[in-house]
Amino acid sequence: MTTMTAHRLLGLLVITVLAAAAAGNEVTSNVTLDVNDIPQRYDEAQLWRIYNISEGMQQKVPVGEVLENKFGGNIWKENSKFLDISISKDHLKGARSFLSAHRLDAEVLSDNIQSMIDEEMMEGISGSTAADGMRTKKATRSNMHWKDYHDLETIYGFMREIRSKFPNIVRLYTIGQTAEGRDLKVLRISENPRENKKVWIDGGIHAREWISPATVTFILYQLMANWENQPAHIRGLTWYIMPVMNPDGYEYSRTTNRLWRKNRSASRRAQCNGVDLNRNFDIGWNGYGSSTNPCSDTYRGSSPASEKETKAVAEFLAKRKYNLEAYLTYHSYGQMIVYPWAYKAVKVKDSAVLQRVASLAVDRIAQKTGSTYRAAVTHEVLGIAGGGSDDWSRAALGVKYVYTVELRDRGAYGFVLPPRYIKDTALEGWTVAETVAQAIKTSSDKP
Ligand SMILES: [Zn+2]
Repeated sequence: MTTMTAHRLLGLLVITVLAAAAAGNEVTSNVTLDVNDIPQRYDEAQLWRIYNISEGMQQKVPVGEVLENKFGGNIWKENSKFLDISISKDHLKGARSFLSAHRLDAEVLSDNIQSMIDEEMMEGISGSTAADGMRTKKATRSNMHWKDYHDLETIYGFMREIRSKFPNIVRLYTIGQTAEGRDLKVLRISENPRENKKVWIDGGIHAREWISPATVTFILYQLMANWENQPAHIRGLTWYIMPVMNPDGYEYSRTTNRLWRKNRSASRRAQCNGVDLNRNFDIGWNGYGSSTNPCSDTYRGSSPASEKETKAVAEFLAKRKYNLEAYLTYHSYGQMIVYPWAYKAVKVKDSAVLQRVASLAVDRIAQKTGSTYRAAVTHEVLGIAGGGSDDWSRAALGVKYVYTVELRDRGAYGFVLPPRYIKDTALEGWTVAETVAQAIKTSSDKP
């Protein structure tokens, strides 16, 4: 058992003790406890899928908003076809009657979100223990593997290890710090930084989408495990890789609230911290699909790029836009590969090319793992939303291959994807990166 695994078991213990203390009125007087630090539990909270939301909308009832504001709901996913939302135990009855009053029905995807979270953790611990056993033989330094989700320090340790193994082609940047003082780290892999075309890959913009940093670290591993034998169209590119764009939110989702989405920057309202970084970029910022309310999960922030994470990434990329051919950002869930625009209901001029490359990736994924992904324009399948990093990279930097990849699953577990699915899902993410690399090669081959 690693210290990290022990730490997580300890975390579980602390959560249990806190829950017991809360239940039994045993409050220790000498501890000052910020409400934001109390671990959030989801005992008997349910995950619902509600169809035909637009019919509710015709009755001028924004169903998601009402469930969020009046019934403490937590929106997991909202698109043109359905709304996935979790409702705590205490609000189930009220939310049900609200729905039936509007002739809507909810399909129960999960009847106890806390047990999903607990199972995810226990499965990860046993996966880590198995990986530890293998590691004693191999004696690698990093604790990285893909049988569990990892904390930020393990991910950063892995990035440092890659740099020290490949000092001639790898650079590790700290491009800024978060509100809570954590480093924002980006790796560059390149044999010829001056001339190569560039690909940017990021993950972890949204804290709770744990499969995203897991996938991006896997992509890094796929590149470097066999770098010497990679095909020319992969070795001939400069790769920028940022596995965790939102470190504060990510750690908060690991220690305190598994379903946290935003970053952790302070707000005037103490219990409503955080900005949705994927609504904070300077493109259609003032438009649809984001909120001006700091308590909302899609709060856009006080101004475009108000957040340290957004600013650091935007400034880093703006300086490197020459030859920047691809911007790939990994999210979950939904199994989709989507491309601009998201902030308006218009396709980009070269959408036929983007659709073709995305469809090719979809076909390859189906062959490799059997999973069904969908290739589409963002606004058509996810609705209109401004302030996204993907749109910004196209509008501000002129990047051609801009894709947001919504990884597994399609709602069975949502954000709480059990660790046994990490490897295949990450392979799907890698397949997208590979396909785009090939497309860059093909388009530059043409006279
Ligand atoms: Zn996301």
